[in-house]
Amino acid sequence: MITKTKFHNTELEVIQGDIAKQADLESVVNAANAQLKTGGGVAGAIHRAAGPGLAEECSAMAPISPGEAVISGAQNLPNKFVIHCLGPVYGRDEPEEVLLADCYRKSLQLADENNIDSIAFPAISTGAFGYPFKAATDTALNAVKAVIPQLKSVKKIRFVLFSESDYKYYLEGLERVFG
Ligand code: ADP
Repeated sequence: MITKTKFHNTELEVIQGDIAKQADLESVVNAANAQLKTGGGVAGAIHRAAGPGLAEECSAMAPISPGEAVISGAQNLPNKFVIHCLGPVYGRDEPEEVLLADCYRKSLQLADENNIDSIAFPAISTGAFGYPFKAATDTALNAVKAVIPQLKSVKKIRFVLFSESDYKYYLEGLERVFG
């Protein structure tokens, strides 16, 4: 199941799936930890699929701070680039809404600066970092909407949700924010 819409010249997609299996896209975003190492959730899936070379390649860029994004190669992942972004820990890193929006904005700007045409996002901060899913969805989609008019090379943005309920909420969000 896949759902699409268009805003300016950018295609937006929402799917239920695994961020480490987006073989048709040039880049994927990692919900990273500050040390840019493997972990649970998204970071675990990305580092396992990429192999140990990813943490080695990233070590010189660590640590990163909440709201910051950095770019690396993708090692054994089926993409060309990984954009690593540290989301805010809910209740600790504040202002959390600004920091979460920064993640999406800076990831897209970094992709654009690197002439990347397609990118997949997970729902940053909504797992181990405890950000309430609905609030995070609205912040993410509004941040993406605000930056799209500035983008030159990014032509496709995909949101990859792990669970069916998260996927359904994103579908509603796409309608609400971009419909
Ligand atoms: P954070 O530490 O930023 O909260 P997590 O990786 O713990 O990041 O979780 C972020 C979101 O990604 C959660 O909604 C979680 O259900 C989801 N998720 C976990 N594994 C994957 C995966 N392999 N692909 C896509 N989404 C995933």
